[in-house]
Amino acid sequence: MSDTLLAALDSNWSAADPAALTPDHAARLAELEQLDPALVALYRRGSEVLAGAADANTLRDRHTALLGRERGVITLGLAEMPRLSVDERKVRGKALNLVKRWLTEVHDARREAIALEREAADALDVTLPGRRGFTGRPHVLSQVRDDLLDLFHGLGFSIYTSPEVELDEYNFEKLNFGPDHPARDAHDTYFAGPDVVLRTHTSPGWVRAMEERKPPLRLVFPGRVYRAEAVDASHMDQFHQIDGLFVDRNVSMADLKATLNTFARAIYRADLPTRIIPIYFPFVEPGVQMDVQCVTCSGTGHIATAEGGKRCPVCKGTKWVEVLGAGMVHPNVFRAVGIDPEIYTGFAFGMGLERIAMGRYGIPEIRLFLENDLRFLEQF
Ligand SMILES: [Zn+2]
Repeated sequence: MSDTLLAALDSNWSAADPAALTPDHAARLAELEQLDPALVALYRRGSEVLAGAADANTLRDRHTALLGRERGVITLGLAEMPRLSVDERKVRGKALNLVKRWLTEVHDARREAIALEREAADALDVTLPGRRGFTGRPHVLSQVRDDLLDLFHGLGFSIYTSPEVELDEYNFEKLNFGPDHPARDAHDTYFAGPDVVLRTHTSPGWVRAMEERKPPLRLVFPGRVYRAEAVDASHMDQFHQIDGLFVDRNVSMADLKATLNTFARAIYRADLPTRIIPIYFPFVEPGVQMDVQCVTCSGTGHIATAEGGKRCPVCKGTKWVEVLGAGMVHPNVFRAVGIDPEIYTGFAFGMGLERIAMGRYGIPEIRLFLENDLRFLEQF
């Protein structure tokens, strides 16, 4: 009868010697041999597969196969008893109960051992090397922006932010771009509606600030701007600017030049030559462009190569690199916001963060800023 019960146990199940869990294993087998030899093979196999269960789930499945209330081997054995004689029934009943109790003991001992093994596996191994935590950092453009804002804060400038989605009137008209002004074509603009644009520069912030506040004003305007540009190594359709504005009585070109030189010496290096050359912007008069000497070729226009030298690719041989645009605020801009240009004067400047970061760190590609490649970002 033990054979039919044994058939309920998978012959492929892993087995182990139960003596480690129940040291009286041999004595149990001997006792069962005396009492009811037909159950010896069943107990041996049952105790071995319980001892051989590798994990808690496997152990639970085997417990169900052996001791389950409905279909367990012991239950099946008890169900066969009515077919036995009265004397046989007495012996079998006693033997089955004994096997049941012993198998339960093996099961409980194995369950405890599995729990201890798991605890040991989860325990902290102090000999392993530690895992380095990931520490983030500000994006390189944020670092450059914060450096610039710190610098201008030290010069007395406060921060003013204005909308990225801007009225055409503020982006162009009040900055002295007429509806047919040729300079408007230079800004390839994204229109969000007939009179609404994605701002093409941070300068609309001046207009809003001057409409809201009375001079003296000393403000910087950091933010993202948009142009409908074809994207290449040095052009993106979105980039970052910081504009600056200083409006008071008797503000002169000398104040502008001193401010720009302070900026260039702080951001690049103290003895880096700079120059200011005239250039046209509609919202300033006169308008200027500030260049710094090219850092890549040290102002020679040429760099050494294995073939004996070539034209500097950064300044394209001109020896200078444009850093920003600036000028004295145009009287028409003052009039548009209700400030009397006979009483007040002011200067303004605007710079691109990407250009400054590229010059400062020798970054060759503007697209790298927006690709979010950690190999790039982790260098700064
Ligand atoms: Zn150069």
